[in-house]
Amino acid sequence: MKSQEYILLEDEFGAHNYKPLDVVIERGEGIWVWDVDGKKYLDCLSAYSAVNQGHCNPKIMQAMFDQAKKLTLTSRAFRNDQLGPLYKELCDLTNSHKVLPMNSGAEAVETAIKAVRKWGYQIKGVPEDKAEIIVCRNNFHGRTITIISFSTDPTSTNGFGPFTPGFKVVDFGDAQALEDAITENTVAFMVEPIQGEAGVIIPPDGYLRDVRRICDENEVVLIFDEIQTGLGRTGKMLAEEHEGVEADLTLIGKALSGGFYPVSAVLSNTEVLGVLKPGEHGSTFGGNPLACAIARTALRVLRDDGLIDNAATLGEYFTQGLRAIDNPKIKEVRGRGMLIGVEFHPEAGGARQYCEKLKEAGLLCKETHETIIRFAPPLVITKEDIDWALERITPILSE
Ligand SMILES: *Cc1c(COP(=O)(O)O)cnc(C)c1O
Repeated sequence: MKSQEYILLEDEFGAHNYKPLDVVIERGEGIWVWDVDGKKYLDCLSAYSAVNQGHCNPKIMQAMFDQAKKLTLTSRAFRNDQLGPLYKELCDLTNSHKVLPMNSGAEAVETAIKAVRKWGYQIKGVPEDKAEIIVCRNNFHGRTITIISFSTDPTSTNGFGPFTPGFKVVDFGDAQALEDAITENTVAFMVEPIQGEAGVIIPPDGYLRDVRRICDENEVVLIFDEIQTGLGRTGKMLAEEHEGVEADLTLIGKALSGGFYPVSAVLSNTEVLGVLKPGEHGSTFGGNPLACAIARTALRVLRDDGLIDNAATLGEYFTQGLRAIDNPKIKEVRGRGMLIGVEFHPEAGGARQYCEKLKEAGLLCKETHETIIRFAPPLVITKEDIDWALERITPILSE
């Protein structure tokens, strides 16, 4: 079949809850993907940072095959031989004390919300049903009803009410606004260390340290949603390390499986997760042996193959190359590690047109919020690959 036929099938029989670029991918390897016509592209999105380890990473694939032949699902009614080792390895790599495994990122967020509410009632002494969680404007934490209840993006919320109460919104990057919003009923502050979907928004230096201090002073649980920024993407295992702070709860997902399978987790540095007792929370697939075996190898690849350092060094190189593009329509190039945003002035007429041209030239990128292109290739990228990319990106983004 030709690509146009696949596109027609998707559009006729599928819900239209996405507006993808019209490229039909059938194969991937490392940073490269191939469409059904055999054309090759450099993937600059990495499935929103889920394939940090590269497409079809051979080590993770082998671990998946090996485990799939032995055991895939027991449910948590029984124990399995992959879960304990995953917990230990995750705690060692991220300096955490406890882990709660789930599947999608949104489920990790929901889990954290449940845990901090219970913690608020049982430990902090907040009156029943009064718990408040503070979040940031332009956040992205997922798509469930509770999570969109505190989204500030009308496209995410319009027509989906009634919403879950108990959330307050403050400006991202404004520590004073957080301090002012805290009341005796505040149980948690949840924030992305860098806002990914909002367009790679990096907070002012010291912000993460300030919110850490404010949460400590007010007995508020600090939750970092590192589902996109975590696991090497920004040049550190977790983005919080850039400011030397630790959240009480850290949410990871996406690259935790290297793109093979949905695996997410809540990591805890305090006893917050300890408030959950048997039967109070769970998931049929969460912590299954197939997911655990995949995640264990996905983590090992990040560390052993030097992908985190690669993100730091080559991310800086890529950012410099993008900054060198001389076009007054570009408002800003910003990034940390291999999470890079190029923002155009509104007069430039949107970022989508550039993404279409980059696609023709063999690079897959996706615009976010109309005017921003995110560049986030798999972390297995080399300097030569970046030079190849910049040779193609520079003339297009100069237009
Ligand atoms: C992608 C993402 C999520 C949601 O993850 P899903 O697996 O799509 O449910 C939550 N938070 C952040 C910061 C994300 O980037």
